[in-house]
Amino acid sequence: MYIHHAMQELTLDPDNWTDLRTLGHRMLDDMFEFLETVRERPVWQSVPASVRERLAAPLPVAPSCAAATYDEFKELILPYPTGNIHPRFWGWVMGTGSPVAMLADMLASGMNSHVAGYDQSASLVEDQVLRWLAELLGYPSTTSGILTSSGTAANLIGLAVARNIAAGHDVRARGLQHDGAPLIVYGSTETHSWAQKAVELLGIGSDSLRKVAVDANFEMRLDDLRDAIAADRANGLHPLCVIGTAGTVNTGATDDLRAIAKICDDERMWFHIDGAFGALARLAPKHRAIADGIELADSIAFDLHKWMYMPFEAGCALIRDAAAHRAAFALTPSYLTALERGIAAKPLEFAARGIDLSRNFKALKIWFSLKVHGSDLFGQLIDQNIDQAAYLRERIESEPSLELMAPVPLNVVCFRYHASDAINQEIVLRLQESGAAVPSSTMIGGRFAIRVAITNHRSRRSDFDFFIDEVLRHAGELEESR
Ligand SMILES: *Cc1c(COP(=O)(O)O)cnc(C)c1O
Repeated sequence: MYIHHAMQELTLDPDNWTDLRTLGHRMLDDMFEFLETVRERPVWQSVPASVRERLAAPLPVAPSCAAATYDEFKELILPYPTGNIHPRFWGWVMGTGSPVAMLADMLASGMNSHVAGYDQSASLVEDQVLRWLAELLGYPSTTSGILTSSGTAANLIGLAVARNIAAGHDVRARGLQHDGAPLIVYGSTETHSWAQKAVELLGIGSDSLRKVAVDANFEMRLDDLRDAIAADRANGLHPLCVIGTAGTVNTGATDDLRAIAKICDDERMWFHIDGAFGALARLAPKHRAIADGIELADSIAFDLHKWMYMPFEAGCALIRDAAAHRAAFALTPSYLTALERGIAAKPLEFAARGIDLSRNFKALKIWFSLKVHGSDLFGQLIDQNIDQAAYLRERIESEPSLELMAPVPLNVVCFRYHASDAINQEIVLRLQESGAAVPSSTMIGGRFAIRVAITNHRSRRSDFDFFIDEVLRHAGELEESR
């Protein structure tokens, strides 16, 4: 006899929504608790060997219970974060994230919109956020833009548009495999390493990235820039683009953007600004003059996940010439042709402005945060971080055993203890490993520097006092044990 079995079709939705809902509410409560008590925990702690072992476990082929998996998360994963949400994390340049943006990110994941374009709310929100960001940085409303995964990706997009415009031939069809003069890109010795990655990926090559010397303030020497351009022209090369930096990663220096804009104008070169964090100084009412000229670039890249305190990932590229922006990336395969009506009316609006086709709804956390907090508060927080850097500088200058290693024009403070590089490095390691604070380090003038970069809305002045006390305590202990 033929037996018809009821077909059991599969899905990732829960059998029991009530159970998952209860678990979800617990996760949310726990995460609020985690954020509320972040100050009470060490900034960072190393992952113990037993945990590392369990995180190397084999592929789970069979299901396990969601609640048990969540318990595992709480035991193995949650206690060992980077630490950048902590008030005393000032390493590299990492933002803190925020509770409101966390919620918005959850909503965006739930909607799971595909933001290549399409006729949908997420595309309208991204357009609106891009207009807001252009306005905040002083760019016209006709400016084109795109949210990206990172500052690196945003900078790459800016430089790609520059290359395609300046090459003088159809780079998209012919690449750079032609006989034209080699394209040359100019930055300073302080330009972030994204630039090397970008010229390598764009086929320009790192030999064609000129690293112009900087002055005592770590700003690009403009005479040297002019000389380098002239020398390259005299040698038959093709100066393409100057990268100005607003807020260098080492010391927070900002190049003379107005002067570079003038040079690019005179030389008919593309002006790109890497304003990864420094561009946002334009929002800060007390310190906005630092970002003077930020509005003059042909393209600018900056991060929302640094000095706008958004959760990762969120970068942004703005391109003044919208047509040039599109011309660098737009293409239309038949399976993505726009239809007159329906969801596919503008299917590739954002895919035509960058590298990714499938894109998540990054704009929602920015939209939510700007609405809930208002753009003024972000400006005040940036002011507060700059003031905290000035306060830390004063504390360092008043300690005879500490030495400031670079000017502090923005939110980055580089200093060292009066002892060897090895002792200074050990101080950094002990600060990190004790969980007291996380500074990072760099080399300034060939000497080891303890580096503090403040893009943290949770830091308070007392945190910097505690930090100096800890630096001196570790230094004292190291001196004694010598
Ligand atoms: C962080 C940073 C970048 C790179 O941005 P990501 O978002 O980390 O890719 C580029 N330039 C400067 C000055 C930076 O600080």
